[in-house]
Amino acid sequence: MPNHPVVHAPARSDAPAVFSAPGRVGLGTDSHPFGPGEPLVLGGLTVEGAPRLVGHSDGDVALHAVADALLGAAGLGDLGRLFPADSRTPVGIDSRVLLGAAAEKVRSAGWRPVNVDMTIVAARPRLGQLLPQMAVSIAAILGLDAGAVNVKASTGNLGGSEGAGRSISANRHRLAGTDRRRRRGGRGMTIQLHDTMAGAARELVPLEPGHVRVYSCGPTVYGPAHVGNFRSFLFADLLVRYLRYKGLRVTWVMNITDVDDKIIKAARAEGVSIGEVSERYRELFLADVGTLRMTVPDVMPRATEHIRRWST
Ligand SMILES: [Zn+2]
Repeated sequence: MPNHPVVHAPARSDAPAVFSAPGRVGLGTDSHPFGPGEPLVLGGLTVEGAPRLVGHSDGDVALHAVADALLGAAGLGDLGRLFPADSRTPVGIDSRVLLGAAAEKVRSAGWRPVNVDMTIVAARPRLGQLLPQMAVSIAAILGLDAGAVNVKASTGNLGGSEGAGRSISANRHRLAGTDRRRRRGGRGMTIQLHDTMAGAARELVPLEPGHVRVYSCGPTVYGPAHVGNFRSFLFADLLVRYLRYKGLRVTWVMNITDVDDKIIKAARAEGVSIGEVSERYRELFLADVGTLRMTVPDVMPRATEHIRRWST
């Protein structure tokens, strides 16, 4: 009888990845042209003295390609569908927020990023020195060890628009990622929440097993939000993050109150429309969400989009 090599799947949980169930791999490609002005935002870093990339967001091709790869690996569409390049996404939004939101979406669907490998194609500027720092930045956004992110750069043999130095593309980004693994949770786990009506801690029992739906109050957009406003938003963020960390799927809805006496008053005082005032402060709110690295809620309905339904 021939001597076949036999591979046993080790029973140990710290078994090498090669013996464990294969994960899923996603691909992401993106390209942005250089525009006038500075700085370059790439791989989560701001590079002063290098030309800016043009886009609806801050133009960070590297993070966009990673986000697409991540969403692709989990079968969750792409970044453009999550953040359309229109008024629903603030102009100039920090792409670290976009990637963070994509990662949250992937996590809430029960997947976990494992590693990232990517190549940035650009004739200029020289990126070699910046690559390790980009890897650290991307790892931090995804909650991975720095060693799990590999960033390479190529001049693309000086061909195409990248070679002519007119654009940077981050192509063939590949995210070997997403072990579907419910972590630190499962059966037997209980989460206690304080029930203010009963005045006692109660076990959280989701209406649908494994899926928690959270509704939390969002801002009334008549002016800039202050620290006190964000205290409640960040509390909801903390709760959502903890539930996801415990392996639960969470759908988080946060409403935007975009019609209110104060908004009407502000619009009258400025001689502009109510929509102009509310949109300005909604965008400012989202920018603050980004600055604070808050999780972006899954659904952010505006009150004005639902009034007709309530009143008819
Ligand atoms: Zn892009």
